[in-house]
Amino acid sequence: MAKDQTILFHSTIFGPIHSRRLGTSLGINLMPADGKVCSFDCIYCEAGYNAQGAGKAGLPSREKVKEDLERKLSEMHSNGDPLDVITFSGNGEPTLHPEFGGVIDDTLELRDRYYPDAKVSVLTNSTRIFDPMVAEALKKVDNNILKLDSAIDPTMRLIDQPASKEFTVDRLVEALKQFSGTGIIQTMLLRGTHQGRKVDNTTPEEIDALLKAYKEIGPKEVMLYSLDRSTPEENLQKVEKEEIERIAGKVREAGINVMGF
Ligand code: SF4
Repeated sequence: MAKDQTILFHSTIFGPIHSRRLGTSLGINLMPADGKVCSFDCIYCEAGYNAQGAGKAGLPSREKVKEDLERKLSEMHSNGDPLDVITFSGNGEPTLHPEFGGVIDDTLELRDRYYPDAKVSVLTNSTRIFDPMVAEALKKVDNNILKLDSAIDPTMRLIDQPASKEFTVDRLVEALKQFSGTGIIQTMLLRGTHQGRKVDNTTPEEIDALLKAYKEIGPKEVMLYSLDRSTPEENLQKVEKEEIERIAGKVREAGINVMGF
């Protein structure tokens, strides 16, 4: 069953948020402050389904992002606040912003000026890495975190619901190879049902396919995780920590760095 859920970030710059894993993280949302825009429509998306609409605010301009970020960093810096990471995430897919490359350049410049030791991370669903502007920008940041939820097409389509029919696992894995040694591949592990269809990307067949894809891509690291908050598809279950650790062990045995949590 689908739930009307909209947990949106209502601004371009949000936080800082403190977490044990990331430390102090300042968020940047390049999508509208009052709606969601994404090239996927994941059944687990914390921002809800795309059907809620894109809102009326539109995308913030490159200039506006720079201005808002500079104001926040300068204020935090004057207060002596710590900052470990600036993270692009938010109400949809950040790389859909038409000025994504310029925004990354501005962010790196401001980071160097105010918090040279902080990292810049981008959480992306990997649908735009075929665009050289997006790929080059992702290569400049400290952590490009690229989604690969299943290496089997029907499962990937069921979980991520990509807008493009041309988006296939084969094309994706081929394109992800450009981040060999530098990219972080992120996989959401989950089980349940969606519209009467069984969802489970933890079966032996799924894990074998993922291991093969990880080996082909050769990422810096694989990040495994599961559900944390409520999801638009209610019939989903979290994969518990012990099981994630067991799957992480298999990834490690395949010679790939992995972070499971
Ligand atoms: S890619 Fe991210 S923002 Fe887009 S639908 Fe999936 S979880 Fe939500």
